[in-house]
Amino acid sequence: MKTPTQTNAIDFDSAKLQRLGLGQPSLRPRRPATLTELRQQLSQQLQTSLEPERILSLFFREIQRLVPLDALQYRHAASDLRLEFGHRGHHSVSYTLSHEGEHLGELVLRRNQRLIEEELNQLEALLVTLLYPMRNALLYRAATRSALRDPLTETGNRVAMDQTLQREIDMARRHLHPLSLLMLDIDHFKKINDTHGHAAGDSVLRAVAGAIKHQLRNVDMVFRFGGEEFLILLSNTGREAARMVGERLRQAAQAQDYWVEGTRIELTVSLGCSTLLAAESAESLLRRADNALYVAKREGRNRLAMAG
Ligand code: GH3
Ligand code: MG
Ligand code: MG
Repeated sequence: MKTPTQTNAIDFDSAKLQRLGLGQPSLRPRRPATLTELRQQLSQQLQTSLEPERILSLFFREIQRLVPLDALQYRHAASDLRLEFGHRGHHSVSYTLSHEGEHLGELVLRRNQRLIEEELNQLEALLVTLLYPMRNALLYRAATRSALRDPLTETGNRVAMDQTLQREIDMARRHLHPLSLLMLDIDHFKKINDTHGHAAGDSVLRAVAGAIKHQLRNVDMVFRFGGEEFLILLSNTGREAARMVGERLRQAAQAQDYWVEGTRIELTVSLGCSTLLAAESAESLLRRADNALYVAKREGRNRLAMAG
């Protein structure tokens, strides 16, 4: 038997919020008591968190007091957010959450037993309680993420790097894992700016960042260290494995196509690599990678040098 899928797009504009009694708390339409209670409770409870995961897990748990479900899936592509609660059910109903034109994600509710009309109505009424909490949570998530990211290259910024490096050093110590660091610098980047302009330089920077991230499993470990310098943290990676990753990055950056005003330009990068020593500080680990990078530049660029 085919699995039936019900799809609904919901745009809760202000008018609808008023009608559902959420525009002003005093305008409460007459509803079955259990639904009203649950809605009141949810609209208070969900406001107490700014974490999408907590809001949705609470919602999933509480709505089951009225409409039993087997699973809830949530996706918000722009935030890179994908959450799942419960187990899969045969039947599903999908909602697109949006409020005044603002996309707040897609929600899929699943159940082994088909949902009846009355239950769908109840779910819709309950879904309204998600809108403001989810909008606030998504805004908060975007704000905290942007505080830690470099907007041009979509890599971590210095603040993120400092935090992550210290955390990774602590982890490496605790678990006796190796930790390596690659410092990557674009060769003769100034010439690209001088020849083609700053905007072309910016797009090349973005392309280099893209090439680096494409090669790595964990893109959260790439940071923009300076103007045209990137730092890559390789957790649980020793000296020889780090050398291989560095070499792969060098080749990928060189192989990438860089187009400026319709012509392809050649570009290479140089790298310095250091591996954490016993009792070494973050500063020292960075300094040794930077010194190795200097050696790579001095020896002719487009190469990787290992810290001694
Ligand atoms: P080397 O091979 O020795 O690294 O030479 P280089 O020209 O790459 O190095 P240098 O440090 O002399 O120049 C780096 C240039 O990067 C200088 C600066 O104008 C440019 N730069 C720094 N940040 C940005 C940026 O955000 N956008 C653009 N377009 N250029 C930048
Ligand atoms: Mg450079
Ligand atoms: Mg530089």
